[in-house]
Amino acid sequence: VTTVGVLGGGQLGRMLALAAAPLGIDVVVVEPGLDPPAAVAAEVIQAPYGDASALAVLAQRCDVVTVELEGVPIEALAWLEDRVPVRPSVAAVAAAQDRLAEKELFAAAGIPTAPWAPGRVTFEGGTIVKARRGGYDGRSQEQAGPGHDLAALLPGLDGGEVISEGVVEFERELSIIAARGVHGETACYPLVENHHTRGILVRTLAPAPGCSAALQAAAEGIAGHFLDATGYIGVVAVELFQTGDDLLANEVAPRVHNSGHWTIEGAVTSQFEQHLRAITGLPLGATNPVGVSAMVNLIGEGVAGAVEVLAVPGAHLHRYGKAPRPGRKVGHVTVVANDDEELAARLAVVERVLS
Ligand code: AMP
Repeated sequence: VTTVGVLGGGQLGRMLALAAAPLGIDVVVVEPGLDPPAAVAAEVIQAPYGDASALAVLAQRCDVVTVELEGVPIEALAWLEDRVPVRPSVAAVAAAQDRLAEKELFAAAGIPTAPWAPGRVTFEGGTIVKARRGGYDGRSQEQAGPGHDLAALLPGLDGGEVISEGVVEFERELSIIAARGVHGETACYPLVENHHTRGILVRTLAPAPGCSAALQAAAEGIAGHFLDATGYIGVVAVELFQTGDDLLANEVAPRVHNSGHWTIEGAVTSQFEQHLRAITGLPLGATNPVGVSAMVNLIGEGVAGAVEVLAVPGAHLHRYGKAPRPGRKVGHVTVVANDDEELAARLAVVERVLS
């Protein structure tokens, strides 16, 4: 039996563990929180991610170790990497933890981005100051219009702890999920379109409507540059801005990603199965979509309307077993349809029920 260790036992760990079961892969997660979502399908070691005895168990029991979040202590991953394959590599996770390192990696790999600079630097047309570390879901970043003083942005952080970016007037936000296997083979899913509210993903349309083959090729090129530059193994998500025919990379997530949840029902191989295939040395699966899909996140208060949601043809409900809290992702719904028109009609019903 192959055993996969996962740092993190949240909803991503849960969906990884659920995808592991039919492959006969056992999953052990390390998670500090009580009653983690992954507990339904994985063995849980309740401990901080850097806990020495928990890491020793992973090193001893697991064939390969992976992460479901990038915010794990790098020393812990490095310790593991000396004893067991860690996929993706420590270097790839470390780059994704630090927006400066990430931007430097993009630049070295020839990946286009918004204009950026270390520290607080004004850009014509508006500036966003972002914390180098610890920001997610739109936290730890603040924006100033042209001519405004940047010193007031993220005032708790000194210049060495932030980067600045020029504000991009993008048309829409897209992302691409890609995978690279142990022999360097790669597979990409279609581009998807992401909608955010206050920095939190609320909706994904898959495939992204109206994408040309050239745009898909450009996205695959960006993902491929990142995968090759890091010798990556596993699934990665690259968040992109579209301006006309051009794509700019915003950030990478070295893991399965919320914008790939639609693949569970909406693609031949889910991103979770794909990640497991990649890191355990199995062949990568087909990434073709099955019809057209929309994924809606369930955020905050509770999940009302399950019965009405499930009455919609092609609708699938995922609950993560998390206590509701404002702003917290507690589940998602994926709607699959045969064409755009059918999808729009089904999605309208689902969003009305959920609102
Ligand atoms: P991030 O935390 O980098 O993913 O940023 C959160 C959100 O802020 C993104 O999804 C965009 O909507 C917006 N954003 C981030 N960087 C920029 C930028 N350089 N220009 C315009 N909008 C941005």
